[in-house]
Amino acid sequence: MSRCLLVQFSGRSRGWARGIGTYSSSSVVDEPITPPVKITDTQLLINGKFVDAASGKTFPTLDPRTGDVIAHVAEGSAEDVDRAVAAARKAFDEGPWPRMTAYERSCILLRFADLLEKHKDDLAAIETWDNGKPYKQAAEVEVPGIIRLMRYYAGWADKIHGLTVPADGEYHVQTLHEPIGVAGQIIPWNFPLLMLAWKIGPALACGNTVVLKTAELTPLSALYAARLLHEAGLPPGVLNIVSGPGPTAGRALSSHMDVNKLSFTGSAETGKVVLDLAAKSNLKPVTLELGGKSPFIVCKEADIDQAVELAHLALFFNQGQCCVAGSRTFVHESVYDEFVEKAKARAMKRVVGDPFKPGVEQGPQIDAKQFEKIRSYIKFGIESGATLECGGERYGSKGFFIQPTVFSDVQDDMLIAKDEIFGPVQTISKFKDLDEVIRRANKSHYGLAAGVFTQNLDTANTLARALRAGSVWINCYHVFDAAIPFGGYKMSGFGREKGIYSLSNYLQVKAVVNPLKNPAWL
Ligand code: ADP
Repeated sequence: MSRCLLVQFSGRSRGWARGIGTYSSSSVVDEPITPPVKITDTQLLINGKFVDAASGKTFPTLDPRTGDVIAHVAEGSAEDVDRAVAAARKAFDEGPWPRMTAYERSCILLRFADLLEKHKDDLAAIETWDNGKPYKQAAEVEVPGIIRLMRYYAGWADKIHGLTVPADGEYHVQTLHEPIGVAGQIIPWNFPLLMLAWKIGPALACGNTVVLKTAELTPLSALYAARLLHEAGLPPGVLNIVSGPGPTAGRALSSHMDVNKLSFTGSAETGKVVLDLAAKSNLKPVTLELGGKSPFIVCKEADIDQAVELAHLALFFNQGQCCVAGSRTFVHESVYDEFVEKAKARAMKRVVGDPFKPGVEQGPQIDAKQFEKIRSYIKFGIESGATLECGGERYGSKGFFIQPTVFSDVQDDMLIAKDEIFGPVQTISKFKDLDEVIRRANKSHYGLAAGVFTQNLDTANTLARALRAGSVWINCYHVFDAAIPFGGYKMSGFGREKGIYSLSNYLQVKAVVNPLKNPAWL
C-alpha cells in the first residue's frame, strides 16, 4: 500500500528562495495504488463503432502520479475528423436522431444517466487515473454532477419549442426552434467528464449530432461514457469521438466546412486560434469558455476562519487546475495579517498524495509541462518580491506533485497576479476600501468568476453588480449546478453553458410566415 502523507511544514521564515517546509518522506507514490478499473476503450468512436485511426497511430496517455503509461490511444488526424464529420452529417441529414420524437430522445438520455450511475465507480476511477484528481472528488462531485446534468437536459428535450408571433398584416407567423446540425466540440483536460456532459447534454437534447475532440492528456473517460450512451440506444453517428492532438485533429474540426457549430473550452490563446479557423472556413458560430484570473474578496466584517477555508477551496480545488480558480485573493487590511497566517496554516495542512488514497485532498498536476510552468511562476513570484509563506517546491520525487504554495504581499503588476498559473499557488493582496478593490479586481483581461466573502448585504449587492465576471459567488465558491449558467466576460469567452442558456447555442430559429386565408374569422 502506498503511504499518504500529510503535508508537514515546519518553516516560518518568509521569502525563501527554496521551498518552505519539511516532509516526512521523499516520495508520495513509491507504490501507487492500483486503480480499481480496467481500461477497455482506447479507439476512436466513429459512426457507432470503435475503430483505429486511419494512420494506425496511437499515443500514450500517462498516469500523473508516476509518469507511467496507462494505455495507448488511437491518435485521430484530419482524415479521422473527416470520417467522423461525415458520419455525424449523415446521422443528422438522414438518421433518426433529429426526426424521432423529443420524448424518445429524452428517454435515451435518461437511460444514459442510469447507466452512468450504474458504472459510476469505474468512471470515477478512470477520471482519477488519467487526470490525477482525488478519487473522492471524482466519485462524489464530478460523476454525480454529470449524471444530474444529463437528466437535466433529458428533461429539456421535449420542452423546446417556438412561438406564435402576432405580426402586423394578415399572416400566421410562427417560429421553429431547430437543431443547428453537426456540432464540433473541443474539451480540455481538467474536468474531462464534466466538460463532455456540459457539451453533449444540450447539443443532443436539441437534436444535433456531435463530433467531440477530447484533450490529448485525458482521452479515456469520454470513450467509456460514449460506450454507455450507445448501450442506452443512441443511434450510430450521433456522437463521434476523436482523441488526438489539438494542432491536427482540433484544427481540422474547427475549420471543417461541414461542421455547423463549434464549442470550445480551453486556453484563451487556443480560443483565438479556433475562432479564426471557424471564421476563415464556413463562419460557423462559436462559443468559447476560456481562462480566468478570478478575484476572491474577503471583506472586513468577514468570519476569518470561514473565509480562509473558502478562499483555500476556491484556489486549491482540483490542484488549482480550474479556469475559475480564485487565484487573486484580496483581503481587507483590517483582517489581512490574521488571514495570511491562517491561510498559510490551512495550506500546510493540505493532504497531498496518491489521489486514490482516502483523505487525500491534492493529487499531482496533470503533466510535466504544467508542473514546470507552475514552478516557473513560483520562481517569478519570489523574484518579484512577493513573500513566500509556504510551499514553493516539488512534493516527493516522482510524478508531478507540487507543495501547496501561498504568497502574500502580492502586487497587482506581478506576473503571478496577472497570469493564469493553473496550479496550487495562492496569491494574497491587501486592500483598503470597496471602490479600490472593485477597480483592482476588474483590472484583468479575464472575467470568468469572482468570489465575495462578507456578512454585509449592501457590500454583497454592490460587489455582485460591480464585478465584471460571468459568475459571482457570495459566501460560497465552485457552485456548478446543472441549471446555473456559466461563461465569461471579456477574454474569458462568450456564450453560456449549462442551464436554459446553453440551449440557444445548439438551436437556430426559423420564422415561418403564411397568409391567413379567412382573416375575417378573427
Ligand atoms: P491547455 O494549454 O490547457 O492544454 P488548450 O487550449 O491548448 O489548453 O487545450 C484545450 C483543447 O484545445 C484541447 O482539446 C486541445 O487539444 C485543443 N487544441 C489545442 N490546440 C488546438 C488548435 N490549434 N486547434 C484546435 N484545438 C486545439
